[in-house]
Amino acid sequence: MMYSEKEIWSILEEVEDPEIPIINVVEMGIVRGVKINEENVEVTITPTYSGCPAMKTIEDDIAEILREKKIGNFHIKTVLSPAWTTDWMTDVAKEKLRSTGIAPPEQTSGDKGLLMGKVRDVSCPRCRSKNTQLISQFGTTACKALYKCNDCLDPFDYFKCI
Ligand SMILES: [Zn+2]
Repeated sequence: MMYSEKEIWSILEEVEDPEIPIINVVEMGIVRGVKINEENVEVTITPTYSGCPAMKTIEDDIAEILREKKIGNFHIKTVLSPAWTTDWMTDVAKEKLRSTGIAPPEQTSGDKGLLMGKVRDVSCPRCRSKNTQLISQFGTTACKALYKCNDCLDPFDYFKCI
Protein backbone atom coordinates (compact mmCIF):
# COMPACT_ATOMS: atom_id res chain seq x y z
CA MET A 1 0.00 0.00 0.00
CA MET A 2 1.41 3.33 -1.06
CA TYR A 3 -0.57 5.33 1.50
CA SER A 4 -0.72 5.30 5.26
CA GLU A 5 -4.00 5.33 7.14
CA LYS A 6 -3.41 8.97 8.02
CA GLU A 7 -2.88 9.86 4.37
CA ILE A 8 -6.14 8.16 3.40
CA TRP A 9 -7.95 10.24 6.02
CA SER A 10 -6.57 13.42 4.47
CA ILE A 11 -7.55 12.23 1.00
CA LEU A 12 -11.09 11.74 2.29
CA GLU A 13 -11.07 15.29 3.64
CA GLU A 14 -11.16 16.40 0.01
CA VAL A 15 -14.66 14.93 -0.37
CA GLU A 16 -17.24 17.57 0.35
CA ASP A 17 -20.65 17.00 1.81
CA PRO A 18 -23.17 17.29 -1.06
CA GLU A 19 -25.56 19.24 1.13
CA ILE A 20 -23.00 21.66 2.53
CA PRO A 21 -19.97 21.76 0.23
CA ILE A 22 -17.79 23.80 2.61
CA ILE A 23 -17.82 20.90 5.06
CA ASN A 24 -16.04 17.69 4.17
CA VAL A 25 -17.30 14.20 4.97
CA VAL A 26 -14.66 13.70 7.68
CA GLU A 27 -15.64 16.88 9.55
CA MET A 28 -19.24 15.82 9.16
CA GLY A 29 -18.52 12.57 10.99
CA ILE A 30 -19.72 10.49 8.05
CA VAL A 31 -16.41 8.64 7.67
CA ARG A 32 -16.23 6.29 10.65
CA GLY A 33 -13.11 4.35 9.90
CA VAL A 34 -10.24 3.64 7.55
CA LYS A 35 -8.55 0.26 7.62
CA ILE A 36 -5.70 -0.85 5.45
CA ASN A 37 -5.92 -4.58 4.88
CA GLU A 38 -3.45 -6.75 3.04
CA GLU A 39 -5.58 -6.82 -0.08
CA ASN A 40 -7.65 -3.63 0.13
CA VAL A 41 -8.53 -0.38 1.86
CA GLU A 42 -11.74 -0.44 3.80
CA VAL A 43 -13.62 2.81 4.37
CA THR A 44 -16.57 2.71 6.74
CA ILE A 45 -19.24 5.38 6.38
CA THR A 46 -22.48 6.11 8.20
CA PRO A 47 -25.16 8.14 6.42
CA THR A 48 -26.23 11.32 8.17
CA TYR A 49 -29.84 10.43 7.57
CA SER A 50 -31.05 7.41 5.69
CA GLY A 51 -33.62 9.43 3.74
CA CYS A 52 -30.96 11.76 2.42
CA PRO A 53 -30.75 11.56 -1.37
CA ALA A 54 -27.17 12.78 -0.96
CA MET A 55 -25.92 9.54 0.54
CA LYS A 56 -25.35 7.76 -2.76
CA THR A 57 -23.45 10.82 -3.97
CA ILE A 58 -21.12 10.62 -0.98
CA GLU A 59 -20.30 6.99 -1.70
CA ASP A 60 -19.67 7.77 -5.37
CA ASP A 61 -17.48 10.77 -4.52
CA ILE A 62 -15.37 8.72 -2.11
CA ALA A 63 -14.94 5.98 -4.73
CA GLU A 64 -13.95 8.57 -7.30
CA ILE A 65 -11.25 10.19 -5.21
CA LEU A 66 -9.78 6.83 -4.18
CA ARG A 67 -9.59 5.83 -7.85
CA GLU A 68 -8.02 9.18 -8.66
CA LYS A 69 -5.31 8.51 -6.08
CA LYS A 70 -4.71 5.13 -7.70
CA ILE A 71 -6.13 3.16 -4.80
CA GLY A 72 -7.75 0.53 -6.96
CA ASN A 73 -8.63 -1.98 -4.33
CA PHE A 74 -11.05 -0.50 -1.88
CA HIS A 75 -14.28 -1.36 -0.21
CA ILE A 76 -16.79 1.20 1.03
CA LYS A 77 -18.80 -0.24 3.87
CA THR A 78 -22.01 1.50 4.91
CA VAL A 79 -22.87 1.01 8.56
CA LEU A 80 -26.32 2.10 9.69
CA SER A 81 -25.99 1.21 13.33
CA PRO A 82 -25.15 2.97 15.55
CA ALA A 83 -26.96 5.77 13.75
CA TRP A 84 -25.15 8.99 12.93
CA THR A 85 -25.61 11.71 15.51
CA THR A 86 -24.73 15.37 15.46
CA ASP A 87 -22.21 14.58 18.22
CA TRP A 88 -20.01 13.16 15.48
CA MET A 89 -19.88 16.51 13.72
CA THR A 90 -16.73 18.40 14.60
CA ASP A 91 -17.04 21.84 16.17
CA VAL A 92 -15.33 23.18 13.06
CA ALA A 93 -18.18 21.76 10.98
CA LYS A 94 -20.83 23.36 13.22
CA GLU A 95 -19.04 26.70 13.10
CA LYS A 96 -18.80 26.49 9.29
CA LEU A 97 -22.53 25.81 9.12
CA ARG A 98 -23.25 28.90 11.19
CA SER A 99 -20.93 31.03 9.08
CA THR A 100 -22.90 30.17 5.96
CA GLY A 101 -26.13 31.15 7.69
CA ILE A 102 -27.37 27.61 8.27
CA ALA A 103 -28.41 26.73 11.81
CA PRO A 104 -26.57 23.60 12.96
CA PRO A 105 -28.62 20.75 14.39
CA GLU A 106 -29.53 21.66 17.95
CA GLN A 107 -29.13 18.37 19.71
CA THR A 108 -29.02 14.67 19.15
CA SER A 109 -32.33 13.27 20.24
CA GLY A 110 -35.75 14.67 19.53
CA ASP A 111 -34.81 16.11 16.17
CA LYS A 112 -36.48 13.25 14.40
CA GLY A 113 -39.65 15.01 15.53
CA LEU A 114 -38.97 17.81 13.09
CA LEU A 115 -38.93 15.37 10.22
CA MET A 116 -42.30 14.22 11.39
CA GLY A 117 -43.64 17.74 11.33
CA LYS A 118 -43.12 18.84 14.90
CA VAL A 119 -41.69 22.27 15.50
CA ARG A 120 -38.75 22.77 17.82
CA ASP A 121 -36.66 25.62 19.13
CA VAL A 122 -34.02 26.54 16.62
CA SER A 123 -31.62 29.41 17.21
CA CYS A 124 -30.83 31.94 14.52
CA PRO A 125 -27.33 31.39 13.06
CA ARG A 126 -26.82 35.16 12.86
CA CYS A 127 -27.99 36.59 16.19
CA ARG A 128 -28.47 33.30 18.11
CA SER A 129 -32.01 34.35 19.01
CA LYS A 130 -34.39 31.53 19.88
CA ASN A 131 -37.28 33.68 18.70
CA THR A 132 -37.62 31.90 15.38
CA GLN A 133 -40.40 30.31 13.42
CA LEU A 134 -40.68 27.48 10.97
CA ILE A 135 -41.71 28.68 7.53
CA SER A 136 -41.39 25.49 5.54
CA GLN A 137 -40.36 21.90 6.23
CA PHE A 138 -38.18 22.13 3.16
CA GLY A 139 -35.44 24.68 2.63
CA THR A 140 -32.99 24.89 -0.25
CA THR A 141 -32.68 21.09 -0.16
CA ALA A 142 -34.80 18.26 1.25
CA CYS A 143 -32.44 17.97 4.21
CA LYS A 144 -33.01 21.51 5.36
CA ALA A 145 -36.02 23.33 6.77
CA LEU A 146 -36.68 27.01 6.21
CA TYR A 147 -36.92 29.20 9.30
CA LYS A 148 -37.30 32.90 9.92
CA CYS A 149 -35.74 34.85 12.74
CA ASN A 150 -38.25 37.17 14.41
CA ASP A 151 -35.47 39.41 15.74
CA CYS A 152 -33.25 40.06 12.74
CA LEU A 153 -36.12 39.17 10.39
CA ASP A 154 -33.93 37.08 8.13
CA PRO A 155 -34.90 33.67 6.81
CA PHE A 156 -32.36 30.89 7.27
CA ASP A 157 -31.91 27.18 6.62
CA TYR A 158 -31.94 24.72 9.46
CA PHE A 159 -30.01 21.52 8.90
CA LYS A 160 -32.48 18.87 9.97
CA CYS A 161 -30.88 15.88 8.34
CA ILE A 162 -30.17 13.61 11.26
ZN1 LIG B 1 -31.59 36.48 14.01
